[in-house]
Amino acid sequence: MNDSDIALRLAAWWEANARDLPWRFGRTTPWGVLVSEVMSQQTQMSRVVPYWQAWMERWPDARALATAPKSEVITAWGRLGYPRRALRLQECARVVSEKYDDELPRTYEALLELPGIGDYTASAVLSFAFGQRIAVIDTNIRRVLSRVFLGTESRGGSASAAERALANRVLPEAVKRSVTWNQSVMELGAVICTAKSPLCEACPIAESCTFLKAGRPGLGEKRTRPRQRFQGTDRQVRGLVLAALRELPAGSSLTRTDAEKLWKDSVQLGACIASLDDDGLIEIMQDGALRLPQG
Ligand code: SF4
Repeated sequence: MNDSDIALRLAAWWEANARDLPWRFGRTTPWGVLVSEVMSQQTQMSRVVPYWQAWMERWPDARALATAPKSEVITAWGRLGYPRRALRLQECARVVSEKYDDELPRTYEALLELPGIGDYTASAVLSFAFGQRIAVIDTNIRRVLSRVFLGTESRGGSASAAERALANRVLPEAVKRSVTWNQSVMELGAVICTAKSPLCEACPIAESCTFLKAGRPGLGEKRTRPRQRFQGTDRQVRGLVLAALRELPAGSSLTRTDAEKLWKDSVQLGACIASLDDDGLIEIMQDGALRLPQG
């Protein structure tokens, strides 16, 4: 199979097997695609669906989100994790609303200038929302391309120049095919060619896979750092504080005494409360009580 046959096989597989996520198949706006991409960073897409649906119903465009109270934005982010992303998304919405009259810009450079938008999200929006030809490079795509074309595991960390060159070299020339290519390679990486246990027996391009032919050398050894445990981390403690604040009636606060019951290590708790305050995710009142930002 040559590169073009691989693309055709993947496209057919995508047509028959793509997960029916609500931001796919032209059913939402470019802004909706961007929201889905920001929510999906470091969070599984299947977990994102209910949050995305509720979010888009409430704030269907950048303008609506731009003027929402911060406390509501943080509450609606719920348990998606890494809640600073919610505030960055709102900053992004403000710029889109004010500078671009509520329409996402259509160039890589302009998208990259938006708050919280990096190379991956800018490329994904251009490909998936605007149908432009651009190589999208995320962890799943890097893993699949590296296995299929190089026969090796991709390394952790950010994409290397060689990985970018490979992604650009194998991207189909035809614009529409390039979009399907990005979507299908990414989907294959999410559901078939997974990091630890790729389902090669169910893979539509198994016969062209250099990694499989080579006996899957070093399968799953690519992690350069171990996955961080969650239990006992600052992330867990910050999550507990935010969850307690989200459950309060709008505008009310959590007394310091009640906050101190959330975690037994008072030094760690104090540091986490301070970091949430630094990140603009909570406010500390004069008597030490905590509340979600009122702005
Ligand atoms: S054959 Fe296996 S390793 Fe190769 S692309 Fe398919 S799932 Fe991944």
